[in-house]
Amino acid sequence: MDPAEERRDTKRHQEYINMLGNVCDSEYGIPRRCPCGGRMIDEVRVKEEHETHPGKRFFTCINYEADGLHYRQPWVVGVQEEIEHLRKRVDEAEEMNDQAAPEYVNSKTAVWWDMDTCPLPDGYDARRVRPSIEGALKDLGYYGPVTINAMGNLENAHPHVLQGLSSTGILLQHTTRVRSYIYHDLSMFKVDNPPPATIMLISDQVEPVLSIFLSLDHQKSYYNLVLARTFTPPSMSRLCHTAEWLWQTLLARSPETTSCVLRNSASSFLCGSCNFTALSVTDFSRHLSSEEHKKEEFFSIKSSLPEDSDEGEESMAKIPKRKRSRKKKHSG
Ligand SMILES: [Zn+2]
Ligand SMILES: [Zn+2]
Repeated sequence: MDPAEERRDTKRHQEYINMLGNVCDSEYGIPRRCPCGGRMIDEVRVKEEHETHPGKRFFTCINYEADGLHYRQPWVVGVQEEIEHLRKRVDEAEEMNDQAAPEYVNSKTAVWWDMDTCPLPDGYDARRVRPSIEGALKDLGYYGPVTINAMGNLENAHPHVLQGLSSTGILLQHTTRVRSYIYHDLSMFKVDNPPPATIMLISDQVEPVLSIFLSLDHQKSYYNLVLARTFTPPSMSRLCHTAEWLWQTLLARSPETTSCVLRNSASSFLCGSCNFTALSVTDFSRHLSSEEHKKEEFFSIKSSLPEDSDEGEESMAKIPKRKRSRKKKHSG
């Protein structure tokens, strides 16, 4: 063989080897389509005998031939790789959070936490909540003071949890109408705190209702919005938030607890149904189990039905009387 021909032959061979390598490398996760253009089929080689014994399965090209140019991925490997890939994408999505813009680095952050839809996991040390939230914010460059308002139906909350949260300066509010209260509190906050400031919402119910108000509001004002929830929404949000966490992941980040108390309010506990405030867990728990409270609660629920039971706009407008007058006073 002449040397030129031999070189060409070696080159062709090398290209073929490279192609095999490329085909092999691209066969990662659950293959969608074979490099030959063929559709993937779910091949079961050994017949299924029981439901629990699914035979030997492959993701196989419909034109499969054993020449190294078609896909034939063992089912277990494909699924395992696919999950690893998806997990990586979830992590990356979290890393895509924007760093704080300069005007928000030292401005304050107000957090509203809906404890009904984003509860604490069983056995979680409540004193870890504040450092976890603050840690997540600091990672993105938010160093300003953080106030945290926790809301929800607290009648069955464990006093231990209430005490733990309160000891880190978290304000606790009992209410059966979390969304209305968040919306109301947000409006109040904006009156008292002109931008720049960051608003953090921890709730699975931000969309669809709250987000309508927030996005309209957002366009008019210069508040920065960040979110945490227990799921990753399937579609694009209409909110222009700059960061988003999975609540579970956020909570898992800080093993430390904190007991540094910086009270942002004269009282730590508030019953939204009765406008009752308390300084200690004992007083608060006593109130929540009292006849008086039960009566108020009954009437407040009765008077707010049926609008409050659906996701309508009306529930947003439903602000308890005393709160409403307070709002008026603030807005002058
Ligand atoms: Zn093929
Ligand atoms: Zn009450």
